Amino acid sequence: MSMMRAMVLDRPKTPLVLRERPVPAADAGEMLIAVSACGVCRTDLHVVDGELEHPKLPIVPGHEIVGRVAGIGAGVDGFSLGERVGVPWLGATCGVCPYCREGAENLCDAPVFTGYSRDGGFATHTIADARYCFPLGESGGDAEIAPWLCAGLIGWRSYRMAGPGKTLGLYGFGAAAHILAQVAAWQGRRVFAFTRKGDTAAQDFARSLGAVWAGASEDAPPEPIDAAIIFAPVGALVPLALRAVKKGGRVVCGGIHMSDIPSFPYALLWEERHVMSVANLTRNDAREFLDVAPKAGVRCEVTRYPLARANEALSDLRDGRLQGAAVLVP
Ligand SMILES: [Zn+2]
Ligand SMILES: [Zn+2]
Repeated sequence: MSMMRAMVLDRPKTPLVLRERPVPAADAGEMLIAVSACGVCRTDLHVVDGELEHPKLPIVPGHEIVGRVAGIGAGVDGFSLGERVGVPWLGATCGVCPYCREGAENLCDAPVFTGYSRDGGFATHTIADARYCFPLGESGGDAEIAPWLCAGLIGWRSYRMAGPGKTLGLYGFGAAAHILAQVAAWQGRRVFAFTRKGDTAAQDFARSLGAVWAGASEDAPPEPIDAAIIFAPVGALVPLALRAVKKGGRVVCGGIHMSDIPSFPYALLWEERHVMSVANLTRNDAREFLDVAPKAGVRCEVTRYPLARANEALSDLRDGRLQGAAVLVP
């Protein structure tokens, strides 16, 4: 029996543990994927830190998976052995709830999430529902593409929700923002990057990727902006972003978890400003982004970690020691 390795979370707030287990077989509708790279997302951190309730336990985190098809279950069409594919956060949906029927499968009442309710990609192998996998083609490196699978896809959904305005603020300049800044600049938009006060490295990084201005989150941008997307899990950024957007402007919260939003004067919301959140992704978001990203020439800055050092990658992300995205390579 061939064996695989996985970094396993037994209980929230404990380190992941490296385990060997037999390589599973793909059931009907599934594929076995040999993982080439898996990005580390802030959502993984929320699972490990116990900020997202009721994960399947034990769980293998990781939902920015790039790998090769190593086994194909009965009834799967359209994929071939050895093909490079991506597996995102949206692992499966029910297809029958009102949300699924209305094309809002991101809001499905009975979803399966990769690395949360089914085992993910912090491993040498994983099983995925083939209907939620995407062909990735052969251009671009595995590690450089891995962050596309969540930071890119959910970032793209957030970006669409922000509307077509020409000026866009990005709060928290991590993996998602560093991808979107490139897309926005390519589309001729003006990007304003907001980071932790004094984080000049992140501000320089943002400018190097096309931001026309970078400063602290508490700073006013040099001109009012059409929309803002908040990627940092910090509720206090909501009133700050509302203060920065124009009349009718949108503030999109792109994360799955945020600290409490402090109370703020109604005047900040007045004049038809909007605050909204983005939840998960649809397969259509994925198809759109995977089409746009190569055209926009999106390049991810990644820091690679061997699989066994997943805990170190998580703590570097938690402590803000990373520029761009962390990626595990088995
Ligand atoms: Zn559903
Ligand atoms: Zn994610």
